[in-house]
Amino acid sequence: MIFCFSFTQDEFYMIIDLHCHSHFSDGTLAPAVLIHRAQASGVECLALTDHDTLDGLEQFQRMKDHCPIHLISGIELSVCWKKYVIHILGLNIRADAPNLLALTALQNQHRVRRGQQIGQALEKVGVRLAYQKACDLAGHERVGRLHFAQILIQEGVVHDIKSAFKRFLAEPGPAYVAPVWENLENIVAHIVQAGGQAVIAHPLKYGLTRTKLFELISSFKMAGGSGIEVVSGNMTFQDVNEAAAISQRFDLLASSGSDFHDDQASRVALGQQQQLPIHCVPVWRAWT
Ligand code: MN
Ligand code: MN
Ligand code: MN
Repeated sequence: MIFCFSFTQDEFYMIIDLHCHSHFSDGTLAPAVLIHRAQASGVECLALTDHDTLDGLEQFQRMKDHCPIHLISGIELSVCWKKYVIHILGLNIRADAPNLLALTALQNQHRVRRGQQIGQALEKVGVRLAYQKACDLAGHERVGRLHFAQILIQEGVVHDIKSAFKRFLAEPGPAYVAPVWENLENIVAHIVQAGGQAVIAHPLKYGLTRTKLFELISSFKMAGGSGIEVVSGNMTFQDVNEAAAISQRFDLLASSGSDFHDDQASRVALGQQQQLPIHCVPVWRAWT
């Protein structure tokens, strides 16, 4: 069911968080714990957006009757666009949409294959049973690089996540494996078909030139995309202003989220990201 509610003129002053992760992807907390945390820090509207899975949404939505927060079903899907990997949020989706379930199955095949390849590469540099250990840590087999980084720390190979990426997991490290994902058009179409808004996550984090970013945005809009994340995690004030200007220039709805994973990996707690600039059109306005 699509969640509908209306906002007052105070919508800009709402504490809203439309981007966070549970242990169903690469976060460490259960959806129910995220909700409790959000509630404790005054968040009024929370979307769970795990990477390429809807699995956490059942528990998330089950809490709906027991808490005063507006809960929005979401997902963060990785897409391949040209030679880049872009993250697209699907917000206010139907969590049981059959087309999205099929899409996540496909994405997870890509993810598992990549995890196995990263595991094999880490074995070659001496980390025994790397893939298995990452799966054990995650509690599932859809492991990502953050899990492998944690294994590298656990095994005493590196001291922190940053050096795990720098020395092993990021290009040109020995365990770097190029990702494969579905394409932009396909992903956006599936989100729209599931009743949601497609939103480009953290648009300034991809290292795209402005020309390339604008090219991405026009392909995204052509495919049916409607929003951009103007405020994300630990963006600078200047970046927020730039993203806000982009949202206006391309007539895109503006979203806001912490991208919270867990206390170690995230510098911004749930709902504690910057305020959305007042001239933006909030994505949640489309839900009224
Ligand atoms: Mn993540
Ligand atoms: Mn992301
Ligand atoms: Mn994220």
